[in-house]
Amino acid sequence: MASAINRAREEVAIGNRILANEGVLDAFGHVSVRHPENPGRYLLSRSRAPELVEPSDVLEYDLESRPVAATTASLYSERVVHGEIYKARPDVMAVVHHHSPAMMPYCVSGIELVPVFHLGAPMGNKVPFWDQRDDFGDTNMLVIKPEEGASLARALGRNSMVLMRRHGTTVVGANVPDLVLRTIYSCRNAEFQWQARMLGHVSTLSAGEVEKCAQIHKQPNVTGRTWEYWSMRLQKSGNGLKAVPAKRIGAKKRPAVRKTVKKAKGRKR
Ligand SMILES: [Zn+2]
Repeated sequence: MASAINRAREEVAIGNRILANEGVLDAFGHVSVRHPENPGRYLLSRSRAPELVEPSDVLEYDLESRPVAATTASLYSERVVHGEIYKARPDVMAVVHHHSPAMMPYCVSGIELVPVFHLGAPMGNKVPFWDQRDDFGDTNMLVIKPEEGASLARALGRNSMVLMRRHGTTVVGANVPDLVLRTIYSCRNAEFQWQARMLGHVSTLSAGEVEKCAQIHKQPNVTGRTWEYWSMRLQKSGNGLKAVPAKRIGAKKRPAVRKTVKKAKGRKR
């Protein structure tokens, strides 16, 4: 039976691939999960495009975003996004950082993102902005230094996601399926809000509706259903994780029964 850590590695790989398959991640962006047995660590791939991530690429980091085991692999430069959020938010179990085209108009314009349909509720009532320039002046826009990650985590606060001005989005979740649901439907929400604005009027959910809807979307039967659906779409795309070959899980080679029988018959004649 697979260990909790191996299952977590696989979930990180599948989460990355689903979000790439659904158009949220491209060559950039990354999904992580808190270590299932050690809350002072998290699991994140080595530097690789999300749709290519394999469970074996997923490395273990401490909350200072240092790899636990020495490695020669190249690492994501923005991993402090994950480490500093796990440090500030003990309730967060999974994080994704992305530059989805659906979100970028809000990151660029500073127009507030608001829940406009029931499946937008998991993003919460408030989606704060963070502007790296406010604390750090001119930078290369990447969140690389621990203090930059800590500043982003402060802007996130107790919310479910934060928009990063002229850069992208960071989303948190209670587990990887919950994170994936929130990420995909917040992108849908962003598209619907923009389209409704084009039609002339944006009608939003009330705070009470957001709270009630969000309770439904936390149910395991809901996140289980969406995870199964997006996993199936990933498999159909041909980019699902390949099954582990039998020789890698220690299965014995099948004896060549037929050949042996034929030879035996031949000898009788
Ligand atoms: Zn980024």
